[in-house]
Amino acid sequence: MFKQSAQHIGTYYAGTYGQIPLRPRLQESLDCDVVIVGAGFSGLHTGLRLTLAGKKVVILEASRLAWAASGRNGGQALPGWSCDMPPLEKALGLERAKRLWDSMTWAADEMRELPLRHGFDIDYRTGALYTAVLPRRVRQLQESLEEAEQKYGYRQLSFIAKEELPEWIASPRYLAALHDAGAAHLNPLKLAQGLAATIEAHGGRIFEQSKAARWEESGDGYRVHTEHGEVRGDVLVLACNAYVDDLDRGLAKRLLPVGSYQVATAPLDPQLAQSLFPKGTCAIDNQFVPDYFRVTPDNRLLFGGGCTYLGGIPEDVPAATRPYLERVFPQLRGVQIDYGWGGHIDCTMHRTPDVGREGQKYWLQGFSGHGILPTLAAARAVSDAILGEDELLNLYQGLDNPRFPGGDLLAAPIEAVGKAWYRLRDLF
Ligand SMILES: Cc1cc2nc3c(=O)[nH]c(=O)nc-3n(C[C@H](O)[C@H](O)[C@H](O)COP(=O)(O)OP(=O)(O)OC[C@H]3O[C@@H](n4cnc5c(N)ncnc54)[C@H](O)[C@@H]3O)c2cc1C
Repeated sequence: MFKQSAQHIGTYYAGTYGQIPLRPRLQESLDCDVVIVGAGFSGLHTGLRLTLAGKKVVILEASRLAWAASGRNGGQALPGWSCDMPPLEKALGLERAKRLWDSMTWAADEMRELPLRHGFDIDYRTGALYTAVLPRRVRQLQESLEEAEQKYGYRQLSFIAKEELPEWIASPRYLAALHDAGAAHLNPLKLAQGLAATIEAHGGRIFEQSKAARWEESGDGYRVHTEHGEVRGDVLVLACNAYVDDLDRGLAKRLLPVGSYQVATAPLDPQLAQSLFPKGTCAIDNQFVPDYFRVTPDNRLLFGGGCTYLGGIPEDVPAATRPYLERVFPQLRGVQIDYGWGGHIDCTMHRTPDVGREGQKYWLQGFSGHGILPTLAAARAVSDAILGEDELLNLYQGLDNPRFPGGDLLAAPIEAVGKAWYRLRDLF
């Protein structure tokens, strides 16, 4: 559906990484225990856990590692799912929803420890602010804090009233915030490269520019075909996100790709950069279409603030984003913008994650714009199930992720009308 390119697009992450290692194309016929399609966080986290457990793993990536959402995101590692807890609680009941939540706090801890354990750097910084623009959404913050503490035993949140906000963020836009000490921000491309290097160091194999054209189930497992080779595995994992398309129409029909975009400014004066977030956190507001932003270690402001429901990305991303950025930080009016890019997020109908199994085919998708920690939590569920423990996977399979109504042609316009209504509600 979307154009794929053989190289990274012009993101801040790719532009500042230095020499990005290139893995080989698949040009042979291979045999393994688990073949994974897609080298974003879903595929890489799953691949790492299985490789460390002694499985022979092959990962196929159509383009470059973390070419899609995993290498283009805001880098905010926020505990929780895009849908928040109510839909999970409704589908699973409180006790089972709590078990899923516990796996999320595990993912937040694991994200901090993984790079230390395996010796790579992801520019990990602690803490996020959830800010409110509208009075009724200040109440929402307070309710979220109570719910997190009382129902889920999560005690990392604290309420910041308007008069204390200048200690946290140099913006006139907000009425209040929650600080989440369990959240973090990081460089996603460094994370993907660190995961990949660790997989390879433990015997896993990764092929780039090797698109899976089709797969079939045969008597001896699953065969995945690329243009120049094929891989046979006992188990197949599909981790293709918004790009799954014809590789698996059943999975594709449960996803609506939504365009999202962001910018990175030129490096700011270090004192100015530090003043934006005096305590080094990142921030996301609680509007339906949120602004999310943070300062990078090289003192740039990374700012995302818009989305499109028909899958397109604005031609001039900096021009489309600048008004939102300057609304939050008027002191940056006219700031130079060095990078602007977009990507696709994989929304499900209820924004609940779509993770499951049929036979020995597994899938992870539908993280709906909030996937850094959710992909890790889901990768644990999938890898545990492949290794014989399916308690977590069964929780995901209790969620209902229906197809979008109206087929491929109508889904996006219907969704766009719905979202336009919610966008209006962001104003009052
Ligand atoms: C602009 C933007 C900002 C975001 N900001 C945040 C944020 O701040 N915090 C957060 O938690 N989440 C954020 N997200 C969401 C998060 O990035 C995603 O949820 C997460 O990266 C999904 O990972 P994934 O591995 O499932 O998918 P992807 O990263 O999209 O990876 C899928 C991979 O599969 C490959 N693939 C597809 N089809 C094939 C095939 N046939 N053969 C081989 N390979 C194939 C693709 O090339 C791609 O590399 C953001 C997303 C975007 C787009």
